[in-house]
Amino acid sequence: MDKELSPLKEVNGKKVFGINSSAISNESKNLGREFLKSMQEKGFFEGKRYGQGLTQVLTHGEAHSLMRAWKKTGGNLGDEVVIYVDRLTCGICQTGFPMLKEFLNLKKIKIISKDGSEFIF
Ligand SMILES: [Zn+2]
Repeated sequence: MDKELSPLKEVNGKKVFGINSSAISNESKNLGREFLKSMQEKGFFEGKRYGQGLTQVLTHGEAHSLMRAWKKTGGNLGDEVVIYVDRLTCGICQTGFPMLKEFLNLKKIKIISKDGSEFIF
């Protein structure tokens, strides 16, 4: 089922898959909570619980791709990350991704939708 595997990204030539929020496993939720904790230690999303308000960005496929890559690379994502998704990136992601970019010290995050449209943060 391509929806579950669809958002994927490349880091140093490695492809990392994400999943949609409807299919998120407990393991993935734990990764989301761990990531949120790291962000909160740096002052992002203060006082918010996982899945509350804008932290919902961390429950979406786009962020899951990014968090898996973060975990896999020990936090060294380089300067630029490209994420491919099978649908249009939602408003929460559009608002939340600039924060993820700042937290990860990335120069650029590009999200490319299936129809070819791009969001650049
Ligand atoms: Zn989203």
